[in-house]
Amino acid sequence: MEKPAPWLGNAKNTSEILKKYDFRVRKKFGQNFLVDSFVLDKIVAAADIGPEDAVLEIGPGIGTLTQYLASAAKEVICVEIDRSLERIQAETLAGWDNITVIWEDVLKLDLRALIEEHCPGGRIKVTANLPYYITTPILMNLLEQELPIQSITVMIQKEVAERIAAEPGNKNYGALTLAVQYYADAYLAANVPPNCFLPRPEVSSAVIRMDIKKDRIPVKDPEKMKKIIRAAFSQRRKTLVNCLRSAEELQITEEEAEAAVEKLGLPASVRGETLSLPQFAALSDILP
Ligand code: SAM
Repeated sequence: MEKPAPWLGNAKNTSEILKKYDFRVRKKFGQNFLVDSFVLDKIVAAADIGPEDAVLEIGPGIGTLTQYLASAAKEVICVEIDRSLERIQAETLAGWDNITVIWEDVLKLDLRALIEEHCPGGRIKVTANLPYYITTPILMNLLEQELPIQSITVMIQKEVAERIAAEPGNKNYGALTLAVQYYADAYLAANVPPNCFLPRPEVSSAVIRMDIKKDRIPVKDPEKMKKIIRAAFSQRRKTLVNCLRSAEELQITEEEAEAAVEKLGLPASVRGETLSLPQFAALSDILP
């Protein structure tokens, strides 16, 4: 399809459209619009969007990333909380026949029903420049519901992206890394500075891609493993044994913790931050 006017993704057209509609950016909704076409192309490329793909975009805003996604994909379903953007989108997304916008809070929506309606039998690709104030709830909601999703490619705070993609032993490695990595393989695709947005966010950003795993790590009780992981990172300076025995939600004695760590072939002084996901799964299966 020919690019409709105004084509967004640059500071000039974005400020003009905001001015034209006298739109005051709402900080409480994390509204930082992308104004760099290179970054927008990069997101579409990192998400590997092609003409057969259905895309779920969270937070289309004034429709910037939506235009780029709709140029590449078969269909784009958007979920946006701020209905006051509707009059802007009526102009910026006019003429596109492959875009549907649902005006809802993404955390309250039945995403399974939405995906099944628009992408029956298939697996949708989630792509977004996320509102940073709810990055983790949105990601965990997408992952834990085990929705028919192929991948999630999102712009988030750089610091959160580094935590998600961290390796064991790295200072950023923690409960969030493992919570995401249980469901997906994560890769950092790009670093993005604040000047690529209008208004500029206070933090640096990064694009991260998460490919949903077809086969998860085998573990008898995934909920128990999650509790163990939470406990292991609750006090980073303590040893794993100390963290486990002092976690109220686990009810594990020091002897049981020591025996399990020894059975894994690890020293008694080991800290949680050095264990990989398969090691946490093994620990979970050994502990009572
Ligand atoms: N996609 C646009 C872009 O890249 O320029 C805007 C991205 S902006 C960082 C985040 C968008 O998410 C805003 O449009 C905001 O209104 C929307 N948003 C915030 N909270 C939301 C929620 N709970 N559900 C759906 N959309 C939300």
